[in-house]
Amino acid sequence: MRGTLFIVPTPIGQPSDLSPRGVEVLSRVAVIAAEDTRVIAALLRELGLPSRPAVSTHDHNEAERAAGLVARMLAGEDVALVSDAGTPLVSDPGYRVVVAAIDAGVPVVVLPGPCAAITGLVGSGLPPDRFLFLGFLPRDEGPRAAALEARRFEPATVVLYEAPHRVVELLDTVRRVLGGGRRVVVARSLTKVWEEWIRGTADEVAERFRAEDPVRGELTVVIEGFRGDAGEAEAERLDSVIRGLAEAGVSPGVIRDVLADVYDRPRREIYQRALGYRNR
Ligand code: SAM
Repeated sequence: MRGTLFIVPTPIGQPSDLSPRGVEVLSRVAVIAAEDTRVIAALLRELGLPSRPAVSTHDHNEAERAAGLVARMLAGEDVALVSDAGTPLVSDPGYRVVVAAIDAGVPVVVLPGPCAAITGLVGSGLPPDRFLFLGFLPRDEGPRAAALEARRFEPATVVLYEAPHRVVELLDTVRRVLGGGRRVVVARSLTKVWEEWIRGTADEVAERFRAEDPVRGELTVVIEGFRGDAGEAEAERLDSVIRGLAEAGVSPGVIRDVLADVYDRPRREIYQRALGYRNR
């Protein structure tokens, strides 16, 4: 008989958010594969549960660890995979272990549970019907702006994670790329006693965090999707191409000739817009 890989979400702030099923699974598996064995040991202690055998399974050793864990499951042992907080694999280690288990024919059972992204989305007050989770954006301004630029006309609500000391920079990039009027919600220290929801436009929320020095707490950032219609998105897209070419020194006449065939807009309109950017 093969064992099973259980994915067990752990609390993101409130120890009692570990589900009864999570407690049951952690109490009976042969081994817990944990991002940090000290963190899971502390949680079990805090909940008054007996300590359990654990092996560390983090970003740097996951590939090798996966093979050993799969061998144990093929030999009949059950394994629970946990990260330091929340749902494993969601901006956390575990993906390679899940793939190795699937490839080996080991059953994977996922327990639903705490996840900052979902908790932040649901309480944000921004449309939850479609959402895009992007995890942590790149730290450097250029790649970070490019990542947002690629989502400028994304109608779905966007959910991000960010470190407190980088949130002002992130919000400034949001203002620059998506506009200062975009609605943003920052969910801070979810499920903890000092849980806080900071809601407003990107300008307002950035201003609010700029006033804090240093910013503290764990933050989930939720950004409203693009609200314009398809025609507006197309017009803005064309505008950014014109601006890019004009700023690169391409003449208005060439911009007009190149773009008029690609975009269904009057030649004169493209020329005038290009001229406007050149004269800035
Ligand atoms: N796998 C985890 C989950 O399911 O929530 C996320 C792990 S990721 C390494 C950690 C990031 O999640 C933090 O930097 C923060 O952006 C977000 N986060 C974790 N706990 C949070 C909380 N209590 N409140 C708000 N955001 C939180």
